[in-house]
Amino acid sequence: MDCLFCKIIAGEIPSAKVYENEYVYAFRDIAPQTPVHVLIVPKVHVCCADDINAENSLYVAKIFEAVPEIAKAEGLTNGYRVITNCGEDACQTVKHLHFHLMGGRKLQGEMG
Ligand code: 5GP
Ligand code: ZN
Repeated sequence: MDCLFCKIIAGEIPSAKVYENEYVYAFRDIAPQTPVHVLIVPKVHVCCADDINAENSLYVAKIFEAVPEIAKAEGLTNGYRVITNCGEDACQTVKHLHFHLMGGRKLQGEMG
């Protein structure tokens, strides 16, 4: 399957890893929009939030278990935002489910 994030998880494309376990891979966004901008992805291919179901939701739970750990390691003691873009209207560009962990400054607006 020709998926950028599957290739990153497999190590076929380099990335700046910040966290990894059996279910989850997290790495720095290549074009950070905030001082801390980490992408957290499941280690199975799920295209977007629309494809979350009873069979893969454990991966989503594991991602959210990792969130406070990553936030702490990144020094986000004053809060942060976690978002996922799904489909055309949200301007999702990479079709592998991912959560943006953003922080390090006061965020505003729809996305910050
Ligand atoms: P989306 O717009 O789909 O929610 O977010 C995709 C994110 O992936 C963007 O913030 C973009 O900067 C990031 N991105 C795209 N290609 C790469 C890449 O090759 N490496 C990394 N680390 N991030 C990428
Ligand atoms: Zn994928």
